[in-house]
Amino acid sequence: MDAQLQTLIELQGFDARIAGLETEAARLPRQIEALQTALADAKKTVETIKTKVDATKKDLRTREKDLEVANVKRQKLEAKLYEVKTNKEYSAVLLEIEEAKQEKAKTEEDILGLMEMQERLAVDIKDAEQRFKTREEQARQDEAVVRKKLAAVEQELEIVRAERRSRAKELPVGVLASYDRILKARGGVAVAAVSAAAVCGGCRVGIRPQAIQELRAATGLMVCESCGRYLYWQE
Ligand SMILES: [Zn+2]
Repeated sequence: MDAQLQTLIELQGFDARIAGLETEAARLPRQIEALQTALADAKKTVETIKTKVDATKKDLRTREKDLEVANVKRQKLEAKLYEVKTNKEYSAVLLEIEEAKQEKAKTEEDILGLMEMQERLAVDIKDAEQRFKTREEQARQDEAVVRKKLAAVEQELEIVRAERRSRAKELPVGVLASYDRILKARGGVAVAAVSAAAVCGGCRVGIRPQAIQELRAATGLMVCESCGRYLYWQE
């Protein structure tokens, strides 16, 4: 086979590998990002519950103070009962006491609810923290694997690019420029095989019998009349 054609075929092989490795090198950092985002979300869940715990604690303190105030108020009202002079005043104080009782009952109910909430949140936060810890460990391991993969891909890219550069030097500048131009214009494929079906492996357009003869002889470079890719014969 023509030496230049042989070099073009090999160059195409390098470029296909480079394209695959570049895709991988772009994909892996996104995978790392996704791992970190998922972890940040798990952390956020813990923080959200913590905020709820703090708010509940604060509400509880407030309501406990309310209860103290209500107790004092009731004591004062009960003392007042002994001081009133008239039945009317007496009834009025009794009514106030009744209202204070209801207020107290409502406050106690709130306190109970808040305490139950606190218990529930204590369980929730334990679960969330456990989940976060598990995920953190898993994410750390996964990230290490992906980073290792990425380093290997980048290393291989360097090697293949260097091989490609050294092989490319074997071609005349004009042929290389033409190859590079077709590669860019034709989706990363500048060299296409033609087999017994007699169509261009790149664009699937039929090749003339005369051209097939020349291809089989492989005495020089030939391009597809339709897509411009370099052609070679493949049995
Ligand atoms: Zn073609």
